[in-house]
Amino acid sequence: MRRIKQSEIPTYRQLYAQEQNNICPLCNKEILDPVLEHDHKGGQLRGTTCRKCNSALGAIENAGKRYGIALPDLIQITKNFESHINNTKPILHPTYRTPEEKKVRAKVRAKKRLAQKSRNTKA
Ligand SMILES: [Zn+2]
Repeated sequence: MRRIKQSEIPTYRQLYAQEQNNICPLCNKEILDPVLEHDHKGGQLRGTTCRKCNSALGAIENAGKRYGIALPDLIQITKNFESHINNTKPILHPTYRTPEEKKVRAKVRAKKRLAQKSRNTKA
């Protein structure tokens, strides 16, 4: 296997982008901000992706390392991702707040802070 030079990055980035018809293999959208993507474990080039997808992929791979999730399990998780996030039940988690509830809580907290400040300046 040959290692490309730093100066060859633009050439390979463009080559793979052309081979992919300038479509990101991850999001399937036109690549506007191209990145030469590579496997950080083995060093092999994987193609050209958009910068956002490159960042997302890196975050997923790093999360796998951080939480001890093996690559096959990480791949399975990403395959199941769509069906899982759309599998919502008609029941809310106790920590969830609607945008309206968040506004009310923020107002209550602001009032409390103001009252606390006023008590502190009097003391
Ligand atoms: Zn993309």
